[in-house]
Amino acid sequence: MSITKWVASPFSKHFTYKSETERPWKPEMVLELLEQAHQEFERLIGPGLDIVIEVEDRICEPNNLGARAEISKQVHSAQESTIEVKFICEFPQNYGDTEQERNLAYHFFVHELFHCWIGGNVSGNHGQIVEAITQYMTDWVLVRLGWCTEDLLIREQTNWQRIVDTADPPHTTIAKYKLLFDQMHTDDSENLFAFCRDLADCFRQQRNREETDISAVLQRYLGTALEED
Ligand SMILES: [Zn+2]
Repeated sequence: MSITKWVASPFSKHFTYKSETERPWKPEMVLELLEQAHQEFERLIGPGLDIVIEVEDRICEPNNLGARAEISKQVHSAQESTIEVKFICEFPQNYGDTEQERNLAYHFFVHELFHCWIGGNVSGNHGQIVEAITQYMTDWVLVRLGWCTEDLLIREQTNWQRIVDTADPPHTTIAKYKLLFDQMHTDDSENLFAFCRDLADCFRQQRNREETDISAVLQRYLGTALEED
């Protein structure tokens, strides 16, 4: 097994960031982004994980970029509740010079963080709703905190509408829900945040189970907008 050489590995209160290569973003900047997003999610959704998350920024083949979270350790007993999480974010060499690439990189880091509140296996066909709310809230928080400009949301919105109009699978469902969340946000932002808080409660309460059942919350907030599938 080859041993990864990290060019940087600074840490902050909740995060350790390890990078396999020089990036256009400074390691300290990623930590700042994550701490700010963590604080904002706690303010909106409630207490998150009281743990250190290790973020690995790795090199990948040009078309393989993506991010995922892995649970390295999980203990839930009467005495303790510990989760150790690792985020693996992969970008090609020399990635991140354009604004669009940086936006996507920021999205990956913060997206995985949001999944610490709302994420994991869900029962039924509700995985895409979890993905849609995660993508939506991530972009919104990036704009709110000033890491991305307002254009990001406007461009995205046009994009979701196009996907829905052309019924371009497999992203149609996610795009449809993102438009719905955007509408909820416009109509009554508190309602959207309450939806997130209730979802997060579901994941917290059912964390011993294989799958989380979020159908009651979906029914309560989305009602008839919930796709029958
Ligand atoms: Zn996700």
